[in-house]
Amino acid sequence: MSNQIQPPESQPAESHPIWGDESATVELAADWAARRVVRHTDPLTTARSATALAADAGPTITASGIGAEAALSVFDRVLEPATRSQEDPLNLAYIAAAPTRAAVAFDLVTSAANIFAGLWEAGAGAIYAENEALAWITGMLGWPESSGGCFVAGGTSGNLSALMTARETAKARRGGRPAGGWQLACTANAHSSIRSAAKALDVDVVEVPMDARGHLTGVALRAVLERSPDVFAVVASAGTTNEGIVDDLADVAAVAHEFGVWVHVDGAYGGAGLAAPSVRALFDGIESADSFIVDPHKWLFAPYDCCALLYREPALARATHSQHASYLDHIDRESWNPSELALHLSRRARGLPLWFSLATHGTDRYRDAIERSLDTSRTVAAAIRASDHLRLVREPELSVVVFDRPGWQPADYELWSHATALEGTMLCVPTTLDGATVLRLAFVNPETDAARVIEILETLR
Ligand SMILES: *Cc1c(COP(=O)(O)O)cnc(C)c1O
Repeated sequence: MSNQIQPPESQPAESHPIWGDESATVELAADWAARRVVRHTDPLTTARSATALAADAGPTITASGIGAEAALSVFDRVLEPATRSQEDPLNLAYIAAAPTRAAVAFDLVTSAANIFAGLWEAGAGAIYAENEALAWITGMLGWPESSGGCFVAGGTSGNLSALMTARETAKARRGGRPAGGWQLACTANAHSSIRSAAKALDVDVVEVPMDARGHLTGVALRAVLERSPDVFAVVASAGTTNEGIVDDLADVAAVAHEFGVWVHVDGAYGGAGLAAPSVRALFDGIESADSFIVDPHKWLFAPYDCCALLYREPALARATHSQHASYLDHIDRESWNPSELALHLSRRARGLPLWFSLATHGTDRYRDAIERSLDTSRTVAAAIRASDHLRLVREPELSVVVFDRPGWQPADYELWSHATALEGTMLCVPTTLDGATVLRLAFVNPETDAARVIEILETLR
């Protein structure tokens, strides 16, 4: 008789004492997903009130469950149609997302593999692949091979984690918190998430005046740093959300480093432009930044949610974000642990869809897809410039086109935007620029047809 622990009497394969046999449910969901990935016919905007949704969906969470078929049917008939299609080629509002089908399909694979990708010991293979995708980005940044980072949920958390690292680094180098607290420098054009990060970090924002076109410049930064010794970081935008403007990165980095100030570049939207030769020169100077983010769910054709967060010196991030506790004592801290590089612990391998899509299509096709959006934006901008009823407010630097319709009041823009959305023609929402209401088109989808957009702009007469 062996004295080893005996396994329990083997169970019949179909016996799952709690959940029952879920294989039909898996097939149902996988089948729906496979059909959705290739479908191309979503309405443009379809939000409905919770009351309307409740009336159509009926009760779904019940003591005994309604069953997979009924639940999926509610999702298919009622819930999913009440979400906005982000990949519709005429969704040009905010910044949409146009993932490749390869990336979306691999999001399913990533979920199915159920990988804990916080620690190398649990997610080595997935983290290796994510790092390959990140290395493609650091290569474009011109950063050393020792640089690196991890994927986080979005630009907001990427910016916060980067600035937390910058603040902790300043604290260590300058010997503690200044009496009046830390300050963060940026322009009014910096993304709203920078102010959220400042709030979370309890640091004050010093606003740097912009040049006439809305850029952060080295000259203006110097004037601020000369009178503000407690600035720990400056945030430069590589593609502002409102207008797609890229700050003067080379001058900003040179001045900041002269003052020992960390340079964080927010490229959540525009960072994809690094891969496009026609605009690459705008990013000159980015090779000296200390941290950088880009959202692959914006213009790098990955599904939600995905932000690449990168550090020139990952050790500084590790010193900031490593969590320590008795139950974490056994972590191998010599390995590449994404958990130690941002404000998170558990994480899915959300960089895998990007990795798979890059591996499938190749980086040349990424370059071409980004250039395609840039071309589309230039064609539309040229048509606006040539038109007699619209005015191009500023020359686009990347793929955001801002224009107005002389003679219109804010209410006119609202009406047109709303009607165009309801008809399902196009999503284009007004924004404000220098206090005036303008219209804004953000091109991130290589399938957007410039001619169709120009045709729709005729309705602004
Ligand atoms: C979208 C955006 C963010 C925020 O990113 P999320 O992924 O939405 O959190 C930050 N900065 C810029 C410039 C952006 O365009």
